[in-house]
Amino acid sequence: MSKFWSPKVRELTPYVPGEQPRKRLIKLNTNENPYPPAPGVEAVLREFPVDHLRRYPDPDSSALRAALAGELGVEPQQVFVGNGSDEILALAFQAFFCHGRPLEMPEVTYSFYPVYCRLFDVTRRALPLDAQWRVDLEAFTTDSSGAIFANPNAPTGHGHARQAIQGLLSRVKDSVVLIDEAYADFGGESAIPLVAEHDNLLVTGTFSKSRSLAGLRLGYAVGSRELIEGLERVKDSFNSYPIDSLASAVGIASLEDRQHFEACREAVITTRERTRERLESLGFQVLPSKANFLLVSHASLDAAQLFVGLRERGILVRHFNTEMLNNHLRISIGTEDEMDSLVETLESLCR
Ligand SMILES: *Cc1c(COP(=O)(O)O)cnc(C)c1O
Repeated sequence: MSKFWSPKVRELTPYVPGEQPRKRLIKLNTNENPYPPAPGVEAVLREFPVDHLRRYPDPDSSALRAALAGELGVEPQQVFVGNGSDEILALAFQAFFCHGRPLEMPEVTYSFYPVYCRLFDVTRRALPLDAQWRVDLEAFTTDSSGAIFANPNAPTGHGHARQAIQGLLSRVKDSVVLIDEAYADFGGESAIPLVAEHDNLLVTGTFSKSRSLAGLRLGYAVGSRELIEGLERVKDSFNSYPIDSLASAVGIASLEDRQHFEACREAVITTRERTRERLESLGFQVLPSKANFLLVSHASLDAAQLFVGLRERGILVRHFNTEMLNNHLRISIGTEDEMDSLVETLESLCR
């Protein structure tokens, strides 16, 4: 606590990201991709003209937005880009959710949303999950400043089909519905095609997970022109240049290599399903997942103890200290070899 901090800053509870260890551990705690970015990315980094860094980047990121629009089947004016999708979420809170009414979200979802609620003075209404720990779309009301959730959800991994999202949008029409699709590329169904008919739908995505570029900080949002303009107004009142010229070039190179993208995500999906079966045969309960992680628990072994046991043996997973999740572990999907080590280590801890 410092006397220099504003009252607001004194009261914040900042988001705590998963640890980035210095030691060489098998790192299955922050849902990074175990495979390298597209080969074209390396070529860009090698050949990027250093002199370009003298100039400010394009404030509208036109080339990157055009490339994304082509990939996602929308118009460039319906695309917004940001320094990671976390930044876009922050801008969206300011643009759409500061109305004095509560923002609705599932009680279990990405833990950054409550942090932004505090920062931007947005009250939160937490909605219970259904009996299978899925986001209960029926629970969202029309008496809120908006709705936000991840689909597939984190850290549960369950993803709703597009038709279910359409059902939600047929009821909630007068406030923004923000669907965070950070994990949609691993088997989820994207709601982006619904943007054409629903002017209150904003879908965010990221290059961090399925494109192996978490270190680059590149995210995007797709929505109606109205919503994108709202984001632009906040962005241009805060930071006109969130995307540097190098990140923009790298992002475009990543989008150009569809084959690499498909191969990596298929490998992650295959390894996920294999790992799921192996963990189940060790007696773990594993929630079905459409993301690049599994949420697991064990009837007779304590998750916190397993976390420590794995850590001591060089494997880092994520343990959340909340009432609902404290007997679960979230395990990111790594390479086949990494998951072999995980399963073998858990096997020895189960004995
Ligand atoms: C990882 C993650 C993000 C953050 O993505 P960045 O683009 O790296 O900021 C956003 N939402 C969810 C649900 C995530 O898991």
